[in-house]
Amino acid sequence: MQVSWVRVVLDIPRQDAFDYRCEHPVQIGQRVIVPFGSRQLIGVVIELLPAPALDPDQIRDVEQVLDDLPAFSASWLALAQFASRYYQRSLGEVILPVLPNGLRKPTAYLGKRSAGGPVARADRKKRSAPATVVPSPIVLNAQQQQAVQQICESDGYAAYLLHGVTGSGKTEVYLHAALTFLQRGQQILMLVPEINLTPQLETAVRARFADLVAPEEIAVFHSGLADGERLKAWADAQRGKLKVLLGTRMAIFAPLDNPGLIIVDEEHDASYKQQEGLRYSARDLAVWRAHQAGIPLILGSATPSLETWHHALSGRYTRLSLEQRAKTRFLPDIRLVDTRKAKLNQGFEPGVLEAIRTRLERGEQSMVFLNRRGYAPVMHCAACGWVSQCPRCSVHTVLHRTPGSGYQLQCHHCGFQSRVPSICPDCGNQDLQPLGRGTQRVEEFLQDIFPAARIQRIDADSTRLKGSALRLFDEVHTGNIDILVGTQMVAKGHDFKRLGLVAVLNADSMLFSADFRAPERLFAQLLQVAGRAGRHAEGGEVLIQTGYPDHTVYQTLLNNDFPAFADDLLAERQDTGLPPFTFQALITAEAKSVQRALAFLQEIREQAATVLADEGEPDAVCLYDPVPLRILRVAHVERAQLLIESASRPALQRFLQQWLPQVQAIGQKQRMRYFIEVDPLEI
Ligand code: ADP
Ligand code: ZN
Ligand code: ZN
Repeated sequence: MQVSWVRVVLDIPRQDAFDYRCEHPVQIGQRVIVPFGSRQLIGVVIELLPAPALDPDQIRDVEQVLDDLPAFSASWLALAQFASRYYQRSLGEVILPVLPNGLRKPTAYLGKRSAGGPVARADRKKRSAPATVVPSPIVLNAQQQQAVQQICESDGYAAYLLHGVTGSGKTEVYLHAALTFLQRGQQILMLVPEINLTPQLETAVRARFADLVAPEEIAVFHSGLADGERLKAWADAQRGKLKVLLGTRMAIFAPLDNPGLIIVDEEHDASYKQQEGLRYSARDLAVWRAHQAGIPLILGSATPSLETWHHALSGRYTRLSLEQRAKTRFLPDIRLVDTRKAKLNQGFEPGVLEAIRTRLERGEQSMVFLNRRGYAPVMHCAACGWVSQCPRCSVHTVLHRTPGSGYQLQCHHCGFQSRVPSICPDCGNQDLQPLGRGTQRVEEFLQDIFPAARIQRIDADSTRLKGSALRLFDEVHTGNIDILVGTQMVAKGHDFKRLGLVAVLNADSMLFSADFRAPERLFAQLLQVAGRAGRHAEGGEVLIQTGYPDHTVYQTLLNNDFPAFADDLLAERQDTGLPPFTFQALITAEAKSVQRALAFLQEIREQAATVLADEGEPDAVCLYDPVPLRILRVAHVERAQLLIESASRPALQRFLQQWLPQVQAIGQKQRMRYFIEVDPLEI
């Protein structure tokens, strides 16, 4: 019998690898079922050992080597290893969570001696790809052509920032470039920020590549898929059966071994950042992956992140610009509606309502954008000042209309729900009022004043059921809707054909956020939502209600001058020593009381000073004072954070490497829950 020793990674926090004896043929990158304590776990073999590092008697046996899928390739393992090092997590905490459920739960395999698990075995049928290509119906303009040519002529790794206003034809550039790499026999990985954007793009991709790529060689990958669908897409990727993979951030980990081009659409979008578990940036991993594979990467955006813009200025990325809208030569007419002296009607300036009426009469669609779901952000008592508050969190509860005709208070942070009190809990006043408005209330109001209009609301509430987002967007696309009321869900990417008017209601609420990225985000969001108007005909109009029309964010939007805006912000970031000129990491501690969380952070901060002194670079890294989070308490847990900053990414990484084992020791001693985030987006 052949016996070997293997090193296996498991999904165990902050612990590296575990050694086992294996009596079956096994290779690096294979999944195995192993005993761990009293449990059985699936792990991945990362090393074959010439001899055991421990007393062989203490080493347990691999129970089963799974061969339902090919082993992970060295390049895929290298990606996982990089993510593990960079984001400061154990390798198992990277590899296992990115696998579809069926591939990491031993229950599906146990009792089946020869490895037949949840994935059907690969069929051996081979299909020869036909040589013909459907000609694209669109003739690229000069700038598009130039971009495609440059991308396709890249010699090895190259990162391109494809900067073009919404509707300038970036998608066409992606598709044309992708075609070239498909013809070379390579795979395409394309990331989009939103699940709801995948159907539109999938249809385009399938139609465009129909003669070159069989239907089963194109897959989508996102969290909205059922377990089985996700498993199938992953298994097809790992078996080398895919030519095109389209997905949201999680698709960056797909096991594709012959990629030719990686595309990240709307690269600035915050949804590329995973906000739990392994807190990775799919955009940044895409850069690493393209570099490792020696292939080009397209980062597309109308409003690039300042990180990307900075790289484009410094020459690290090549900037390709699309300066005109591809179809209509005109951008929508953006106007600021000054609300300071206006008498608002349910949040609408009268002229805005008139503009909607005009579009209705012309048979065109309007969109009302409001980044707040629910009926009203809070209930209050005018007599004593009581406001509806979540008992578990330090936030207000939001008033929602429920499917019947009742109302309910909901916490958007912990999910707490309660009925609406009939009298004020503090003073007994019987006249509690909703304060402010969300999408439900706006919808109700518009239906009141435009009774004949077909109104559709699209937000996280109206699209909760699987498939309903798709259906609602279809309604809008087919023209059965006159007024669309929505949150950021409707702002991204959609190409609505009859949409003439966009009205933005509460943009100012983002203007004075404490987050240093707020202006950048607001600008991106406004430009994106504005970009939905008039994509197919002239006369598109965007009305933005604001009490601060002179603010630079709005003024830049009017001039449509992203470069000037970005340059200003970059200068400011450089002066104040913020990203992209510095690099950050964040440790968040969670405890019953914020005092405990702060005390833990204070102690690890003192430890840090010793580490830095020992390394001989006491000033390479700066640790700020620990502070409570802006929303202090969520679900009875209080949170505080410690910001770590350095002018050098390698210095920050070196420091974290040295320091985190000590943080872990202190955390264990104090039984503190905490997590680390490298390159945090929100601080
Ligand atoms: P973006 O991704 O930059 O927002 P799209 O690629 O979606 O823009 O293009 C916007 C619209 O213009 C689409 O309907 C697209 O089919 C069309 N389009 C793109 N390029 C051209 C072109 N060269 N000629 C005509 N129409 C084009
Ligand atoms: Zn009261
Ligand atoms: Zn709550």
